[in-house]
Amino acid sequence: MDQSPIHLEQLRDAARRLAGLALRTPLLPLPGLSGALGGELFAKPEYLQPTGSFKLRGAANALLQLDPAQRARGVIAVSTGNHGRAVAHMARRLGIPCSVCMSALVPANKREAVASEGAELRIAGRSQDDAQREADRLVAERGLTPIPPFDDAAVIAGQGTIGLEILADLPAPDRVIVPLSGGGLVSGIALAVKTLAPRTRVIGVSMDRGAAMQASLQAGRPIEVEEQETLADSLGGGIGLANRFTFRMVRSLVDEVVLVSEAEIAAAIAAFYRREQIVTEGAGAVGLAALMAGRLPPGGRTVLVVSGRNIDMDLHHRLAGSSPALAHPSAVAVEA
Ligand SMILES: *Cc1c(COP(=O)(O)O)cnc(C)c1O
Repeated sequence: MDQSPIHLEQLRDAARRLAGLALRTPLLPLPGLSGALGGELFAKPEYLQPTGSFKLRGAANALLQLDPAQRARGVIAVSTGNHGRAVAHMARRLGIPCSVCMSALVPANKREAVASEGAELRIAGRSQDDAQREADRLVAERGLTPIPPFDDAAVIAGQGTIGLEILADLPAPDRVIVPLSGGGLVSGIALAVKTLAPRTRVIGVSMDRGAAMQASLQAGRPIEVEEQETLADSLGGGIGLANRFTFRMVRSLVDEVVLVSEAEIAAAIAAFYRREQIVTEGAGAVGLAALMAGRLPPGGRTVLVVSGRNIDMDLHHRLAGSSPALAHPSAVAVEA
């Protein structure tokens, strides 16, 4: 724990700040899936948050710590997805001007989701790198404060409030299974869990297509991997070659990282819907995918952090409608 510059007290402060802004989500028993898979499964339903993902927690905790001058100048995020949406939503609620940078290649529906939260959209270039350069320019020119998606102490502490809530409802689960991309979510949760319930295992799950954290752990330092299209689109992207917090936190606090295939993610999206009537996006279903595919053993009291639900509903309909619940993953046809 000494390696971590973030402490439990920062998570508790975050929990106080978030009261009334982020939902205090319950732990939902999953009787249908528990019956099918064995053990006692619970969902931490972060898809219930106002923007459909947990990202609101970290965004709110970061925004609430800005000083008045920073608030007046405004904030900026580079994100086409759940982070950009969450920052825009919270900034509007707090009366802070917000810009979101994205490349011209981002599809219209994603642009609209961010614009509908009231942020100024800056379309720059044709890649994520171009969007980042535009953000850097605006930070220099207008003094906007960047709100990072994961590698930031305030963001990690905000996501860590999920861990505090889980343990308040179930003091010592056998394991907590967490979707993993840049690692802000699992770092915050693992900090809470390993401090308060050290015998509870914390497991990170990524898709096998472009799992940057897993590749970095194996290399012993942050490395880049090629980004690939995946059903777990919210888990895409790197961890940053100059990673400050999450690489070390994942290495020291997370017990195990497992990877799942596209077919396994598809089967889990279908099973959540057919066994529990839960709509989840690919990233939110990777933990269940790992259990269903036998990549993690069954049994015990297991909390699945279901991180988001922002999926194209036509895609969801195809996945949920076409596959018999809990069918072997190889039976599920997935579009590339
Ligand atoms: C961002 C995101 C994740 C991964 O969070 P990290 O902090 O980057 O590991 C998982 N699920 C959803 C739905 C997300 O939006």
